[in-house]
Amino acid sequence: MIVIIKQKNKVNLSLLNTNKKGYFGNFGGQFVPETLMPALSELETVFENAIKEPEFQLELKNLYQNYIGRPTPLYYAKRLTEYFGKAKILLKREDLNHTGAHKINNAVGQALLAKKLGKKNIIAETGAGQHGVATATACALLDLNCTIYMGAKDMERQKPNVFRMKMLGANVQEVTNGEQTLKEATSEAIRAWVSRVENTHYILGTASGPHPYPLIVREFQAIIGSEAREQCLESYNKLPNYVLACIGGGSNAIGIFHAFKEDQSVKFIGLEAGGKGIETTEHAATLTKGSPGILHGTKSYLLQDNFGRIKEAHSISAGMDYPGVGPEHSHLKDIGRAEYFSVTDDEALQGFQLLARVEGILAALESSHAIGYLFKFMPQTSSDEIIILNLSGRGDKDIPILSQYFDF
Ligand SMILES: *Cc1c(COP(=O)(O)O)cnc(C)c1O
Repeated sequence: MIVIIKQKNKVNLSLLNTNKKGYFGNFGGQFVPETLMPALSELETVFENAIKEPEFQLELKNLYQNYIGRPTPLYYAKRLTEYFGKAKILLKREDLNHTGAHKINNAVGQALLAKKLGKKNIIAETGAGQHGVATATACALLDLNCTIYMGAKDMERQKPNVFRMKMLGANVQEVTNGEQTLKEATSEAIRAWVSRVENTHYILGTASGPHPYPLIVREFQAIIGSEAREQCLESYNKLPNYVLACIGGGSNAIGIFHAFKEDQSVKFIGLEAGGKGIETTEHAATLTKGSPGILHGTKSYLLQDNFGRIKEAHSISAGMDYPGVGPEHSHLKDIGRAEYFSVTDDEALQGFQLLARVEGILAALESSHAIGYLFKFMPQTSSDEIIILNLSGRGDKDIPILSQYFDF
């Protein structure tokens, strides 16, 4: 483990425990232009050294505690639990982090790595704008130049976050090709990185992309699960039966799953965006409906047609609207260690509304997918069981979308 919380099972950082470097089973790897290979191996070396360094750990720990506000609470949602009358529901409150989501855990960690790399310029992609805001925040804090690539469609539906990034001093580059969402923004950020790699670090926002990114992002997000595991043991004297999280690229989910990886009794459930229904073409249910392929430097499940052309993804939530997913989730699915289900836009909205009314918490639309799954899932649980649900972010950023659905 790299940070803060003392943990019984020390997480093994011996890079993937596999002889095929950068792979999780059949997934992962480094499918990038030759020009990026030196930067990826430099990043890997700097990361491996940094996490062993006491000064780096201390700096990260200090920022996690005093800047981000960690540890986040593991909150017993009593009224939500009573609503279903089944398993006890605990919410891991990542929505209470500075900037309102889990993304900042990774952005701050990678910005510190950029300092170590001696790179003053940062680029990043963003969908909903949360990773863009987190990156712009970390850059302001650590005196780095920041450029964020964002699809034109996302800029329109996430206006408050665009304004936020600009106020933090970031340059926001509008991406107008293709579907004008996260996939194109990511492609554009990778292209920009290729042309400026000597002085630029790319802060990837989810547990995907070429090795070592899935590993780096997981390690910076693993604080979520190590805190939750310890908090659960402390308060209830036992481990949870289930850990639930929404899946965009998979960083909040892998962040909360990782500490429980060796706890075979703990079931992992990831919730993908089912959009208008997985029987339609408008969804982002990569693990439920996709097939293995290569996108953005990594091999994973993808939404693609028979010719390997990437399909358009759809979700009410811009942060889930991505046709790929991280390689480790692809592997966890194949070995059966985690299960993945899809939750529709409507179910997510119902989840959002329920949490607002019974707990007074406005959840991010991404996180609302995990809440929305409870309607189906809770009847299968029993009252002596415990669920930890990762509340990955807060919903303020989604007000422009929500206002189209709720007519007050
Ligand atoms: C970005 C985002 C997600 C989806 O990304 P993951 O990498 O899958 O975690 C989920 N929730 C919130 C609040 C986000 O901002």
